[in-house]
Amino acid sequence: MSCSRVASLCGIPPRCNLQLRRIVAGCLWIAFSFTNARASETRQWTTEIQSGPFQIHCDFELHDAQTVLAELDAIRADLERLLGVQPREQAIHVVLFSTESEYRRYMHTYFPKLPERRALFIQHRGPGMLFAFWHPDIRADLRHEVTHALINHGNRSLPLWLDEGLAEYFEIEHGRRFRENPNQPGVKAVVKKKGVSSLKELKRIDELDRFTEAHYRDSWAWIHFLIHRRQETRELLKRHLSEHVALRSNSLPAGPDLERELRYLCPNLEAEFREHFENL
Ligand SMILES: [Zn+2]
Repeated sequence: MSCSRVASLCGIPPRCNLQLRRIVAGCLWIAFSFTNARASETRQWTTEIQSGPFQIHCDFELHDAQTVLAELDAIRADLERLLGVQPREQAIHVVLFSTESEYRRYMHTYFPKLPERRALFIQHRGPGMLFAFWHPDIRADLRHEVTHALINHGNRSLPLWLDEGLAEYFEIEHGRRFRENPNQPGVKAVVKKKGVSSLKELKRIDELDRFTEAHYRDSWAWIHFLIHRRQETRELLKRHLSEHVALRSNSLPAGPDLERELRYLCPNLEAEFREHFENL
């Protein structure tokens, strides 16, 4: 996990995906004001770049634009290749500030009711909006938040554990995701004792305020297990994600039961999960 956890503000996870169920309506209206009016009428961005679905707005000269775009596009390609996530048609606005103080001032002005986070992804029915400020670990923040943007593009949110587990997984650069996620030592330690939170426990939490550091870690662990345990578990995750997309388009009430299918593939799930991390 990136250092942002350590640098957590107010003792809460510094980044998050705020969607319809998690923010108040007033904030959403402000969000649309941003995209529809305020951005074009009152704010002159120093840098504006469009590439594919990404529209980047910066209050500074972005000399590293190609690197940033390559980073965003690499996550899009990884999600499509690994999990079959289809490119979204709606735009994703990426708003970057040169300093933390300007970022906070802006967020406080336009989103006064939202909790403070080091970076934010916000979406309702319109385009997704990702806000962050430039700092040494910005690329991890971008990878994390753009994962939220790419896997959420309907009116209905993914289950929180799935959303955050995937964002935690993909925030690490390609090539280091198998063994070098900072969540790994914590998971290895906890599986030796009581074990991580079960999928049932994680599924019950749908409010970000109740989603603790341990829940981020454990959600990452389940995603890692599903992606790397074997081809069938990865296929299961892929199918689960596509079923959620179908549910979102059809507004059906309940999500697919991933755990039941996982137990069918891994009858000794707890033992297999423990072994997966003990051997990592
Ligand atoms: Zn997140």
